[in-house]
Amino acid sequence: MQDPREPHRQPSVQGSRIDPYVGSYAARTKGMVASEVRALFAVASRPEVVSLAGGMPNVSALPLDDIGRIVHEVVAEQGATALQYGSAQGDPVLREHICEVMAEEEIDAAADDVIVTVGSQQALDLVTRVFVDPGDVVLCEAPTYVTAINTFAAFQADVRHVEMDGDGVVPEALEEALTRMAAEGRRAKFFYTIPNFHNPAGVTLAAERRDRVLEICRRHGLLVLEDNPYGLLRYDGEPVAPLRSKAPDNVIYLGSFSKTLSPGFRIGWALAPSAVRAKLVLAAESAMLSHSTFNQMVVRRYLTTHAWREQIKNFNEMYRQRRDAMLGALDALMPAGTEWTRPDGGFFVWLTLPEGLDAKAMMPRAVNERVAYVPGTGFYASDEGRRSMRLSFCYPTCEQIREGVRRLVGVIEGETEL
Ligand code: PMP
Repeated sequence: MQDPREPHRQPSVQGSRIDPYVGSYAARTKGMVASEVRALFAVASRPEVVSLAGGMPNVSALPLDDIGRIVHEVVAEQGATALQYGSAQGDPVLREHICEVMAEEEIDAAADDVIVTVGSQQALDLVTRVFVDPGDVVLCEAPTYVTAINTFAAFQADVRHVEMDGDGVVPEALEEALTRMAAEGRRAKFFYTIPNFHNPAGVTLAAERRDRVLEICRRHGLLVLEDNPYGLLRYDGEPVAPLRSKAPDNVIYLGSFSKTLSPGFRIGWALAPSAVRAKLVLAAESAMLSHSTFNQMVVRRYLTTHAWREQIKNFNEMYRQRRDAMLGALDALMPAGTEWTRPDGGFFVWLTLPEGLDAKAMMPRAVNERVAYVPGTGFYASDEGRRSMRLSFCYPTCEQIREGVRRLVGVIEGETEL
């Protein structure tokens, strides 16, 4: 007989492959789906495959001995604090340092308005948790960061895309989307944007468009969620001030140490208007009680004892060479009809195949030819992006990048001959 204390447990299926809890999951889990290309990525991580797929920073270029010394010092000198619980808003001294990092990009912020998060990914989760009810509209660029789409979907948002071109989001398209929604009697909760060195598109929102985008959002009462993990990784051209620097009351700004230091510490942050920040802290408390005090103190000591600005310059020199290796190989080898973006920073190039080709369908052949990329479809909530792919140049060496592009060209030419 079934145990009444375990109403959803079916003894007949225990030990089988059928999930006995299938009727118990919350409706929101329907939005939590595994990437269709996950299986291919397992193959793509084999050593003989040149992976232009992952967005992993090259942490082997970090001063590992120095970081080891810092870890030791934190335990030896501050162990009683570092190994204790901390607050959900994050270490106040680290938050002061985060303000110094943001000042590099012309953001004037108070440490009180910063909340430390578990990577900027947790900030995306908290902001969505605080603002989005099932069915609420979230506007984002087309394409956009895949895990942001997954987060919005996990909260059952209605994710709608706004067109981009080589200068970032198109202001007229944003205005049109908002006007259309107003006519439907609906309002978006926020506009999610990655203005610098976009993941996956590789483009940067032009300086002259930033005021226009902010003006449109302000007029429609729309909050902006500005995600800027790559802003300091600029290889060419002049820095463009973040949206937050121009509109502190209308923007929630997200930053991260994942690309400028290491993703392994899992430290990012959100800078938000005070009332919003207070809600985010409450949401963070229920999500995880306290941050890793230890990780925060290691990063804090790294920032005070290490020339971190120099370290970022070293990263930028390395990534610039890799970006040039990729663009050089694409220029030299890609067949006519293929187009790609030319990023001034960050990690990614967005490539569009000749008419009629399908990047997702091509992926098994590419892996067979020992090269991997991310098909464009994953970067849309809708069924777009079939002709596109994201190529990343952050992790492989220049030689591997050139070889990867050579292999990719072979695959594309093979497809066009079919
Ligand atoms: N936003 C964007 C645009 C990203 O590319 C990434 C990392 N790939 C993140 C957020 C999350 O980064 P993290 O959680 O490591 O800070």
